[in-house]
Amino acid sequence: MADNVDRLWPPYTALAGVPAPLIAESTMGARIRLADGRELIDGVSSWWTACHGYNHPAILSAVTDQLNRMPHIMFGGFSHDPAIELADRLCAILPGAPSRVFLSDSGSVAVEIAMKMAVQYWRNSGNTDRTKFVSFKGGYHGDTMATMSISDPGDGMHKLFADYLPNQIVVPLPHDAEKPTAFSDALDQHKDHIAGVIIEPLLQAVGGMKIHDNETLRDVASKCAEQDIPLIIDEIATGFGRTGTLFACEQAGIAPDIICVGKALTGGVMSLAATAANARIVEGFNSDDPDHALMHGPTYMANPLACAAANASLALFKTEPRLEQVAGIEKHFQGALASCRGLPGVMDLRIKGAMAAVQLKNLHENDWLKRRFIEEGVWLRPFGDVVYAMPPFVIGKNDLTHLTSTMNKIVAEWSDRFGV
Ligand SMILES: *Cc1c(COP(=O)(O)O)cnc(C)c1O
Repeated sequence: MADNVDRLWPPYTALAGVPAPLIAESTMGARIRLADGRELIDGVSSWWTACHGYNHPAILSAVTDQLNRMPHIMFGGFSHDPAIELADRLCAILPGAPSRVFLSDSGSVAVEIAMKMAVQYWRNSGNTDRTKFVSFKGGYHGDTMATMSISDPGDGMHKLFADYLPNQIVVPLPHDAEKPTAFSDALDQHKDHIAGVIIEPLLQAVGGMKIHDNETLRDVASKCAEQDIPLIIDEIATGFGRTGTLFACEQAGIAPDIICVGKALTGGVMSLAATAANARIVEGFNSDDPDHALMHGPTYMANPLACAAANASLALFKTEPRLEQVAGIEKHFQGALASCRGLPGVMDLRIKGAMAAVQLKNLHENDWLKRRFIEEGVWLRPFGDVVYAMPPFVIGKNDLTHLTSTMNKIVAEWSDRFGV
């Protein structure tokens, strides 16, 4: 049995003075079984990936079949059916009618690739001035160096690195109460240096589960169109049903030039992400000059197991009623969590599709909260100032009711003890 957990470096966690991680042993549906025999209802779908629940037989058998045939082959010089099928599937469903898909291993890398595509798109046409990105306060696009630079480095989780990162143009969203014109002013002022604009549509997830409206997205898209600046939509958190539609930007009816997906792409089974570009961007690379080639190629690019998982996951959106399940979860959240609103120390309740966030007045006692949820058989990871839930879409009615009644109960306890 594994017992020296201290050899591992945990994510986003101090190395001393924190509770040891739980040892997970197996998963099934919306539940995680621990090595000590306890079972938890997963309220966060393993960082928002396990949209069909864990161990869905259709995905497991697709991966197993592929495993027996060919677990991996390098993608330089080779292609294969699982990747070809996946690119077809993605081009058919992604907003903006993309014409090519670049596959990579994680969301951060998918965004890095989007940034390289945008910069090189301009370079290939002879324009070397456009190297800056416009992104938004409260946004998050990854943990790697370039993606940290567009993830609100002034105030976000990476502020420690602010002086190390390339300088970008990070502005409040349009309609921001204090600076409603900051975005359009920035575009007017810097337009000759901007390679692209990047936004998380409708939901700024890691930045605190903040919701904005369709009008905001449309304003961003129309201003980009007006200035001819490529629009990059980061659907890594919102993609595949989470906000109520297959992709969030469908709700605003906007079309990105480049779109990034990841997280739930394989239904939480394998690490895979994609960066898809429309004809305008692809045309900028349509050249036999080797200097015009996109210089990126992850070693495990388009891993066949991951592609097989993604194909099976995408098929499930057609054969099982995922979006109806999301609508049901949203309705349940609206009724069941309403009573949180009035509690002392609770600032806001935000619900969008299968996401509910209770915003607290400065979330202290986070370890106390996490421990209480585990004691009640629920896996939730409060962060920043929110206690949020993003359950698997297949979660059963009893588990969902236990999840929300536990949120009500623990937030009320927190509010009694620490709220005012
Ligand atoms: C999680 C996330 C990323 C980064 O994805 P990783 O797979 O963790 O690298 C990027 N953008 C958004 C919107 C995310 O939620």
